[in-house]
Amino acid sequence: MTLNPAYLVDFDGTITTVDISYELAVGLAGEGYEEIDHVYRRKEIPIREWLRRTAQLLPPDMDLLLSKSFEWAVIRPGFENFLEHARKQDSPVIIASDGFGFYIEPILSRHGLLDRVSHIYRNDTELNPVGVLEVKTPHAHSICNVCGNCKAFHVVTMKKEGRPVIYIGDGSNDRFGASWGDHVCARDRLLEYCRRYNFRHSPWDDFYDIIDVGTPGLQDLSESSLCCPLGSGVKE
Ligand SMILES: [Mg+2]
Repeated sequence: MTLNPAYLVDFDGTITTVDISYELAVGLAGEGYEEIDHVYRRKEIPIREWLRRTAQLLPPDMDLLLSKSFEWAVIRPGFENFLEHARKQDSPVIIASDGFGFYIEPILSRHGLLDRVSHIYRNDTELNPVGVLEVKTPHAHSICNVCGNCKAFHVVTMKKEGRPVIYIGDGSNDRFGASWGDHVCARDRLLEYCRRYNFRHSPWDDFYDIIDVGTPGLQDLSESSLCCPLGSGVKE
């Protein structure tokens, strides 16, 4: 028996209309962020290093960071309807985020959506004993240093349970997890990667579009994937 698909959903720029971690960096990290942005865009540092360096520049005030996150958080249209659609068809909705992470539950809770999500895999950001912000990455790969949160591992774990996975995202780093998805709902940078690598995908604007995507079959994507979450990590 084929189980109903699981949805693996990015948070920043996907569930929310803007990337809150990026907004925090641009708005609050100060002048030093310019150099981090520069080397990241040139692919000289991976997202995990972006998180580590940027966190050190943010004001060490979690109340301020959370209030700014609330200010910028707009839930993308159709998300609540999508959650209801997933519940009716017994499809788990798993959020996997590779941002600063601390604001996800508070934002979902404020919108009355937190208890309708099956699971959240995210990083955490907290003050260390000397008052500097540190990003914790409990879901990072043990060897690969590219992602803070190995979304591909979460996808593969769901597939091993017999569920096809529909991957929903927007960013360039989503390409690793998406490469294991049995279908990808892609916008922005992720859409460019789906076209480049010929992932099975649907472009989307809001969550009403995702409700219309059917049930994909479970596929073995070990050859065409961009990384090996159960092996040594990225292939690139
Ligand atoms: Mg994103």
